[in-house]
Amino acid sequence: MTVSQQSNSNAPAERQGPPCKFIFVTGGVVSSLGKGIAAASIANLLESRGLRVTLQKMDPYLNVDPGTMSPFQHGEVFVTDDGAETDLDLGHYERFTHAKLTQANNWTSGRIYEKILTKERRGDYLGKTVQVIPHVTNEIKASIQRVATPDVDVALIEIGGTVGDIESLPFLEAIRQMRHEMGRDNTAFVHVTLVPYIAAAGELKTKPTQHSVKELRSIGIQPDLLVCRTEGDISRDIREKIALFCDVAGDAVVAAADVDSVYKVPVKFAEQQVDEILLHHLRIDAQPRRLEPWLEMLDRLDHPDYTVTIGIVGKYVDYEDSYKSLKESLLHGGLAHRVRVEVRWVEAESITPAEAHQQLASLDGILVPGGFGNRGIDGMLEAIRYARESKIPYFGICLGMQTMVIEFVRNVCGIADAHSTEFEPAAKNRVFFKLRELKGVEDLGGTMRLGSWPCVLKPGTLAHDCYGEDKIDERHRHRYEFNREFDEPIQSKGMVISGETPDHTYVEICELPDHPWYLGCQFHPEFKSKPLEPHPLFASFVGAASQRRAGRDSERKRSEEEQFLRAGNR
Ligand code: GLN
Repeated sequence: MTVSQQSNSNAPAERQGPPCKFIFVTGGVVSSLGKGIAAASIANLLESRGLRVTLQKMDPYLNVDPGTMSPFQHGEVFVTDDGAETDLDLGHYERFTHAKLTQANNWTSGRIYEKILTKERRGDYLGKTVQVIPHVTNEIKASIQRVATPDVDVALIEIGGTVGDIESLPFLEAIRQMRHEMGRDNTAFVHVTLVPYIAAAGELKTKPTQHSVKELRSIGIQPDLLVCRTEGDISRDIREKIALFCDVAGDAVVAAADVDSVYKVPVKFAEQQVDEILLHHLRIDAQPRRLEPWLEMLDRLDHPDYTVTIGIVGKYVDYEDSYKSLKESLLHGGLAHRVRVEVRWVEAESITPAEAHQQLASLDGILVPGGFGNRGIDGMLEAIRYARESKIPYFGICLGMQTMVIEFVRNVCGIADAHSTEFEPAAKNRVFFKLRELKGVEDLGGTMRLGSWPCVLKPGTLAHDCYGEDKIDERHRHRYEFNREFDEPIQSKGMVISGETPDHTYVEICELPDHPWYLGCQFHPEFKSKPLEPHPLFASFVGAASQRRAGRDSERKRSEEEQFLRAGNR
């Protein structure tokens, strides 16, 4: 092979056919308007028409990634297969589409600057002045172009923040330049804005939208489609007024009224031809929309047979965004059985041995999710003991698996001081620790086991039964590992190690056979569940919770009948 052939084989494959087109999604007026859901819903509709899509989130803040940001402030950290710690919007993107997302699909200003500063220190700029324009904007454009791989027809790029923020300006300038360079047919601007209802006046107000679009136009971006968030619908008059003042086509003013489930947004958009308008704008010929599976899923969502109650025992329960994917996965698990899952958030710190029964007995299933730090651990251990002894289905995820095993070692194996070195660095019986502690290597600070790892399942176990496969891949985000010195103690008392890495280094799943449903996994299955593909562990767990619910219902009925008969005999 010649040198030039070699370098060619490393170069990204040349694009065949038409160029990848871009849809840029910006937001105005206020934050939290659901730009991520809007982008994901458009992508969902385009995918339903046979197009291959990808999505990317640009976050204007200076943190290099959300990995070290507090879940209280920033919500969940979503993890991709390649181990990127990303914004939770990437979770929406994956749940609404089949796009394969990686580190390349989430950028922050911090990461863009980090790249530029590394180049500057290396001397790559040859002593030139390094500036926001062109250096930062070029780096942003290059990052956007990198997701336009040959297997993508349309890339949706969501710009975080609100138009008018100082920090999002370089991103807006970069996408303005892309329109200039690539032309109107290859780029579309979608602006998500707010049309508030002012109760005192009894009117919907268009002024905030007008101002937001004015702001956008002042930096050279003319939106092609406006997604107007409202409480209810928007009348024809108001749409026309917005269209006129904002200079967009009348049918390109789309109402995004509040809905009770985010999964309904694609349908609302379809009713207003959002996909049709964008495809026309981008001059793309696509198949007709195929929404049947999605509509079938919504039918299950809207017409559940009954409700099951799952208690999530954690420490961020006041901040539901910190468990976004988890909540969605439970909902998906419910879809698999046509049941509605009601989540009851239980603050771990509030659980005590004396009150556990009163706090937890009415639940159909108990789940301890992932988490970091000491707070609430005792309450979690108590909830787990209660679930084990009372035979309530229990699902432990990451920290919830670690606490599940610690509880077992303490209360079943009789080793009272068993712990994880995360919570008790000097623990004598360290059931979870960093493997490096064993090998005597210095603590590597932030090093986590991140992203997708293979796991081999033991035949004849609940885990194997759920997946119906011998080998799976799941995503990780944690530091502490099961100490294999405890294989024998736990197994001799009946706990089964049902999943481990192929090299037997890491324990990935543990379970108790003598229980309706009792399983903990070291990975985060919630990052891979989708409404159309509920994750097997969540589907099975909610199934077990439904059975408990059905069992309790028939028990209640029987005792009511008995009471009735007794009363009649008196
Ligand atoms: N704190 C635990 C660890 O780092 C669990 C992490 C998690 O639940 N994501 O291992």
